[in-house]
Amino acid sequence: MAGFSINGVSKIYDGLTPTETLSNINLTIKDGEFLSILGPSGCGKSTLLEILAGLQLPTRGEVLFGGKKLQGPDKKRGVVFQDPSLYPWRTIFQNVELGLEIRGADKAERKAAVQKYMDMVGLRGFEQKYPHQLSGGMKQRAGLARALANHPEVLLMDEPFGAVDHLTRLQLQDDLLQIWEAERKTVVFVTHDVSEAVFLGDRVVLLSPRPGRINSIFHVPQKRPRRRDDIELLKIQNDIYAAIHDVKTQEDLEFVI
Ligand code: ADP
Repeated sequence: MAGFSINGVSKIYDGLTPTETLSNINLTIKDGEFLSILGPSGCGKSTLLEILAGLQLPTRGEVLFGGKKLQGPDKKRGVVFQDPSLYPWRTIFQNVELGLEIRGADKAERKAAVQKYMDMVGLRGFEQKYPHQLSGGMKQRAGLARALANHPEVLLMDEPFGAVDHLTRLQLQDDLLQIWEAERKTVVFVTHDVSEAVFLGDRVVLLSPRPGRINSIFHVPQKRPRRRDDIELLKIQNDIYAAIHDVKTQEDLEFVI
């Protein structure tokens, strides 16, 4: 079962002035759910994702994955970052097979997995190209194929489409939803884009700034495929904008006091 139970998680980074980045996060992420985590820059979204990946440990609290306490990274949880960090000297095929190669999978298994996921992300025919020959969106597709080829139970995505142009971004969102429908993996998707969070997610968790706390959780019950001009989706977006505005107003008041 690829669900998470996040119990009282706080994160304080040590340093000259220790910074509380996350404060008392309590959240259950269901197996197979597509969860969006939304918040302004610096509110701790990446930190939370890294904790779910096992790349960081919480200062307080714990995270259970499939009912067991998370202790470190594991191939069950694949991570996709904003920068896909492809090796420039390897072809796209060789980049996508990297995780399988490290695990010692044989050639036939590697080839089957790479072909399946390169087809799925729309990169068929680009196997022998090198990263510099691909557009930003295509590199991001390759990063996604590399994560999927490892057969993770969960995809943890940290602003994966943040660096591509707007229209490519919309296409990548559509394609990601199709892949999710086909694979039904749990997806935790970090973004600071309200429309992206709502369009993609079953739920949107809105974090408040410094230290990140859960401000509110919005349910997005609309079936997929969704339309971006769906009035119900736009209403949810507006509710989120209102919540963000309220937080800002409270902050300004605190500042004045
Ligand atoms: P977000 O993804 O929402 O932009 P981050 O999780 O990247 O937020 O960072 C939240 C805060 O924690 C920032 O103020 C950042 O400076 C601080 N921070 C992040 N990583 C570290 C680290 N490894 N060491 C010290 N401070 C960090």
